[in-house]
Amino acid sequence: MSAARPPVLQPGATIGILGGGQLGRMLALAAAQLGFHCHVYAAEDADSPAFDVVQTWICAPYEDRAQLAGFADGVDLITYEFENVPAETVDFLAARRAVLPGPAVLARTQDRLIEKSFIAGLDIATAPFAAVSSPAELAAAADAIGLPAVLKTRRLGYDGKGQAMIPGNGDPLRAWDTLGRAPAILEGFVPFEREISAVVARSRDGHLQSFDIAENEHRDHILKLSRVPAAIAPNVAAQAHEIAARIANAFDYVGVLAVEMFVVREGSDTSVLVNEIAPRVHNSGHWTLDGCSVSQFEQHIRAVAGWPLAAPMRWADVEMTNLIGAEVHDYARWLGVPGAAVHLYGKDEARPGRKMGHVTRVLPRTL
Ligand code: AMP
Repeated sequence: MSAARPPVLQPGATIGILGGGQLGRMLALAAAQLGFHCHVYAAEDADSPAFDVVQTWICAPYEDRAQLAGFADGVDLITYEFENVPAETVDFLAARRAVLPGPAVLARTQDRLIEKSFIAGLDIATAPFAAVSSPAELAAAADAIGLPAVLKTRRLGYDGKGQAMIPGNGDPLRAWDTLGRAPAILEGFVPFEREISAVVARSRDGHLQSFDIAENEHRDHILKLSRVPAAIAPNVAAQAHEIAARIANAFDYVGVLAVEMFVVREGSDTSVLVNEIAPRVHNSGHWTLDGCSVSQFEQHIRAVAGWPLAAPMRWADVEMTNLIGAEVHDYARWLGVPGAAVHLYGKDEARPGRKMGHVTRVLPRTL
């Protein structure tokens, strides 16, 4: 069956969202502001954060075709907040209802080897990388790339999961054992000066609107802080915007896309390397909820609905702090911080490493 064509949505239409996490929750809230209904399909957690803010949701395996068909029948188009929806699920849905961004984007971003090869094919710099599917390939990759290096599983890695750092004197095979010898890529370790991300929206007619570049700090491989503007020179910001635009155009993308990048300084030269593409709204774009004239969530809904994009205007300098695990218990203190907006995701269990909420602080511009 061929893919369904997306209708231009009218207020009152229903958008299907695959995935029920906090990104789905914030997408559904933004969609409600524009007069849409949302129907959420999540596979795992009957307590999914997005279920709290919609009238209709399904918690069923991504392989349950009867449930998938019912979901597709009940919506006008489908988007996702989670890029690891199985390809068969998306193909099954796309034959019934338009899925935006398109299924081909998922196929290219679910596998780190395919994704990195695609980026390199666009002449965009990445860390050196090589495929690893056998001990011999691992040894050859370690020889070619050198150590230190980072071994990453090709599929299902996020927030540092499925990654092993190999120090200069480390044993690559032992590192691969910790990943269960799953198909992987070996990446050269990048001695970055800072990490940044570009969040860009692309409409159905190819119009682009970018948010200001964010500077990101990770703790234990999980995003902890994003600051906007990033402390980078205008030419570095321009490079980051241009890279994200090139990727969005190459995908013929519709929706919001994030590109995580490393800024590397060698002497007086600064270069930007792409680490990862997220074909969805992104944690480093949460600052837009409070610090910008349009949020990344609204922008995504506008794009997939076939509506015009907004031109984002940032109100001030902004800092976004993730509340991870038990840090969420601090929410009452944050409520009293001047300029702080507290967002809690309604998750019951504050497990270590779990994103429970975030706080955006809109800071007066430095004069
Ligand atoms: P990822 O899951 O690829 O986004 O990686 C999570 C975090 O691990 C990144 O944001 C970096 O802080 C770190 N990291 C990943 N790959 C590399 C690399 N090749 N060199 C240095 N640090 C890395």
